[in-house]
Amino acid sequence: MENTKLKESGYTDRHIHLFMEGQPLTASEIDRFTKILLEFNIKEIYDMGSRDGLGFKIRRYLEHTPITLRTCGYALYREGGYGSFLGRPVKDRDDIKRHIDELYRRDADFIKVINSGIISTEGRVTEGGFSEEELRIIVEEAHEKGLKVFCHVSSAERIIEAINAGVDSVEHGFFMTEEALHMMKERDVTWTPTIYALVCFANTLDGRKREILEGIVRNHIKMVSLSKQLGVRINIGSDSGASGIRHGVAFFEEKKILFHLFK
Ligand SMILES: [Zn+2]
Repeated sequence: MENTKLKESGYTDRHIHLFMEGQPLTASEIDRFTKILLEFNIKEIYDMGSRDGLGFKIRRYLEHTPITLRTCGYALYREGGYGSFLGRPVKDRDDIKRHIDELYRRDADFIKVINSGIISTEGRVTEGGFSEEELRIIVEEAHEKGLKVFCHVSSAERIIEAINAGVDSVEHGFFMTEEALHMMKERDVTWTPTIYALVCFANTLDGRKREILEGIVRNHIKMVSLSKQLGVRINIGSDSGASGIRHGVAFFEEKKILFHLFK
């Protein structure tokens, strides 16, 4: 597993948002945010994007602390699809080029792309994402500049498309399949399964909806266990900052689940 060891005497959370309870961090919250991370000894964080590219500002601020922030600035999402609070809309090849040029100029640490919606309370993946061809162009542009592509993606088909397009990391990856895991192993694509975030979501529901979500959690956990057998590299990412997912606490919950599965 990647990032499980203390790194320069601190942990790495590979998937966070510079939000508190789903709202972008305000200037007055940054000190509190920093304090929480340090209390949990988290010293490296990967920011998965915000519409206003908050990560660029906060990265500079955190330079004066023991925390290293790696940021995508803002994510790229398909115009009209899911992702408006995480990034900027893209509609064609020119947009892709323009945004990746800008992100490169602003020294983004990686590119984050949104290739599906999220899981609904009915247990389906909502609308969003690019065509495989568009995604391929994004990956080509990013790789040309030496930037890795982290891909928010759920649903069996979308995950396969993302791997085929050449992304470097699958974020969330709900509805993972064995076929996709084999492809990831072959192409050295990492996976950040954000299991705890999915569990938290299931816990907000009641009745039939909850049962459906709990079934999705069980399958997800099964796939994560299989990833270990197949040798797919897994990252610990909490998705903290999203509503109901607390910074620091969520990282250790995710770590606990993964250690339990992998022991
Ligand atoms: Zn996220």
